[in-house]
Amino acid sequence: MTALPIIDSSASQANPPARRRAAMPPRHLADLDPAERRAAVADLGEREFRAGQLSTHYFGRLVRDPAAMTDLPAATRARLAESMLPSLLTPVRELTCDDGATRKTLWRLHDGSLVESVLMGYPDRVTVCVSSQAGCGMACPFCATGQAGLTRNLSTAEIVDQVVSFAAIAASGAIPGSPARLSHVVFMGMGEPLANYPRVINAVRRLTDPAPDGLGLSQRHITVSTVGLVPAIRRLTAEGLSVTLALSLHAPDDELRDELVPVNQRWKVAEVLDTAWAYAEQTGRRVSIEYAMIRDVNDQPWRADLLGELLSGRLAHVNLIPLNPTPGSRWDASPKPVEREFVRRLRAAGVPTTVRDTRGREIDGACGQLAASGVGQ
Ligand code: SAH
Repeated sequence: MTALPIIDSSASQANPPARRRAAMPPRHLADLDPAERRAAVADLGEREFRAGQLSTHYFGRLVRDPAAMTDLPAATRARLAESMLPSLLTPVRELTCDDGATRKTLWRLHDGSLVESVLMGYPDRVTVCVSSQAGCGMACPFCATGQAGLTRNLSTAEIVDQVVSFAAIAASGAIPGSPARLSHVVFMGMGEPLANYPRVINAVRRLTDPAPDGLGLSQRHITVSTVGLVPAIRRLTAEGLSVTLALSLHAPDDELRDELVPVNQRWKVAEVLDTAWAYAEQTGRRVSIEYAMIRDVNDQPWRADLLGELLSGRLAHVNLIPLNPTPGSRWDASPKPVEREFVRRLRAAGVPTTVRDTRGREIDGACGQLAASGVGQ
């Protein structure tokens, strides 16, 4: 039996930073709201309407390369590009599978940190899974990212730019059999989004503000996934956004959840669920309960029944994720008959339940595999 990690009182860093605290990137257009963009452009001695031109290029036309913004006079363009459009993400490695419908990009950030994003094309939608932090401090033992600790928060623009870069790929028609418009964003890549709260909320605003101020996505098509940082969920509830909340529960009882999601040592199952129900009531949005199926660990029939009792009659659905074993892990995915029985019991309790597809496994793009360890370095 291993000792449980100790959670500090802020619960934002169960693991210490993996290395020296890395620096935040330079300011970028996508860090700023429209008024701030106009002020920043004026500070450079340029006319304020240039801010709108830049926004139209970046958010409206998905152009990230200043060299392609040829309606801006060359000298103006150089000055604006340097200060408003620094390059934030350098692709280090790009992998595709499913005939191009699943793509993973490993990015190097300005300080050398590595993060990943994954695009998934479906017949009716294109979804991108973004990272919100380099590394993660939540220390969930079954998650590859959780093993390395937190390096740093991503800036708002580093989050937004992951989406814009994939939106441009989708718009180019490169995702066969899928719409050309990227429509869904899930904060299920590396990091705990609610531990990087202000930047993640700003990113949500940039993604959902109508073009050309932002990307114009529907709030309901954005999913923020959390280990269950209760004060941050309460804050999100008061935000007045209607994003989908996903709660990584993984166990219906405190004894096991204390181990699988160490933040549970601070905020217990009952408290985190109550907070999630308050979110559901405020927004009218069904909460997605994430549950990784781990063989002989959390997949027993009695745990399905207990989970069913906790969720029955609530505005919730369960998303079972077959465990994607991380290298060297002692855990494995539940056998299919066990998974089917778990689903059956939840549905019998009246709880809508789906099993997540395992897109991207062959390119290590699936849940929990976004460790970026050693790749391309
Ligand atoms: N920090 C956020 C987002 C992280 S990843 C959160 O915890 O919700 C998104 C989902 O993938 C979470 O539910 C996470 O618990 C799950 N996950 C992580 N590692 C996994 C693995 N190896 N197999 C299956 N699911 C995993």
